[in-house]
Amino acid sequence: METKDVIVIGGGPSGLMAAAAAAEHGADVLLLDKGGKLGRKLAISGGGRCNVTNRAEAEELIRHIPGNGRFMYSPFSIFNNENIIAFFEQLGIELKEEDNGRMFPVNDKAADVVRALLQKLQQLQVETRKNTEVNDLHFHEEGMHHVELADGTMLAASSIIIAAGGKSVPHTGSTGDGYPWAEKAGHTITELYPTEVPITVNDAFIQSKELQGLSLRQVTLTVKDPKKKNKKIKSHTGDMIFTHFGVSGPIGLRCSQYVVKAKKKYDYAEIPMEIDLFPEESAGQLAESLKAKMKDAPKKALKNAFSGMLPERLLPVTLQLCGLSESAVCTETPHDSIDTLARVWKEFPLTATGTLSIEKAFVTGGGVSVKEVYPKRMESRKMPGLFFCGEVMDLHGYTGGYNITVAFSTGYTAGSSAAESRASLPS
Ligand SMILES: Cc1cc2nc3c(=O)[nH]c(=O)nc-3n(C[C@H](O)[C@H](O)[C@H](O)COP(=O)(O)OP(=O)(O)OC[C@H]3O[C@@H](n4cnc5c(N)ncnc54)[C@H](O)[C@@H]3O)c2cc1C
Repeated sequence: METKDVIVIGGGPSGLMAAAAAAEHGADVLLLDKGGKLGRKLAISGGGRCNVTNRAEAEELIRHIPGNGRFMYSPFSIFNNENIIAFFEQLGIELKEEDNGRMFPVNDKAADVVRALLQKLQQLQVETRKNTEVNDLHFHEEGMHHVELADGTMLAASSIIIAAGGKSVPHTGSTGDGYPWAEKAGHTITELYPTEVPITVNDAFIQSKELQGLSLRQVTLTVKDPKKKNKKIKSHTGDMIFTHFGVSGPIGLRCSQYVVKAKKKYDYAEIPMEIDLFPEESAGQLAESLKAKMKDAPKKALKNAFSGMLPERLLPVTLQLCGLSESAVCTETPHDSIDTLARVWKEFPLTATGTLSIEKAFVTGGGVSVKEVYPKRMESRKMPGLFFCGEVMDLHGYTGGYNITVAFSTGYTAGSSAAESRASLPS
């Protein structure tokens, strides 16, 4: 049977980095991927420009990894975002920083990032096999582990690294294959759910599609507790977009996991949300501004008096929510209705019914329980010689390079540990 020191299953960012680190630490490494191309998801990340990492400070990084971020202290102590930046710069990939610390290749070419990683593997004499699907794993606590390929071939290795990704966007090869192998080794798979995914909303103004395609800048989106409607579960400030079925965009994606979790926790079909369209102003200040506009143009219709304060398509929706007609004249509009309108602009209500499916999500929440993995080594606490890295684990961050940072950091940690582990096992 063909034998290697380390076999890496999966050629996404975590597996590619794991293979490089294992080879750099002296191991004979084989990387297997069932797809015809390596790094497919990496190549489409960050809007297709490859968001290789994020330059945030350590604490800030952890804060942007709501799925078990604290577990990342150890892998980051071994290989962090600055190491990732240095790694790519050494490979000749110049990086630039964009908004919110997001790091991209200067030429915006994802293909160059993937190519540089593959060249690194070649230099390190890592053998890569594409179109090679792993069917099953056979663990032996005291000897070599065995990898069974879909064509029946058996391979042996003293260390196996599962880097098979989650279940999202399956056409990139991430179809959840790693979970049953982890379970077979005695691991718990925490419940899988979609994260960083568009939210579905059933309010009339969404159903009518009148807001479809409208982007809002620097607003605050909040997910609320369905039992205690004034209690906020999570708020994010930034940009969002209305779609034909609900909301998306950076803060829509960030809020999505809280909708999923609230639905599950309370077993409610609908979760209240709200948008603060003017996070920098109080309802009182807004009401004063509105009343001043009315005073300046007493004969104007509300729609015209308030034009320019809100996007053209959103203003009539907010007036309707307050029972006001857009053609009502300022002088005929009672001031308490304007107070109500200001409150609606601060708490524009949305009724979330859920999110799109896990397959349509950018990231999979849940996975191999972090409690059962040594964070300094990424080795299984259940099976010696078995390692995990990347999205197959119960680790997830917001989009913005945080997931890829997790993938590279855990990948490097798993690869370097796997190379050092069980080096002289009998076959
Ligand atoms: C459109 C899109 C945009 C994104 N943008 C961002 C972003 O801006 N910022 C961010 O942080 N994250 C982003 N992400 C998420 C990020 O890309 C993933 O978290 C990351 O790719 C996970 O890396 P991974 O190595 O764990 O798994 P993956 O990249 O999913 O790779 C897993 C690999 O394993 C292989 N594999 C699976 N099963 C088998 C098997 N049985 N045999 C052999 N091989 C197998 C697959 O073919 C695949 O190549 C985005 C995701 C998507 C889909």
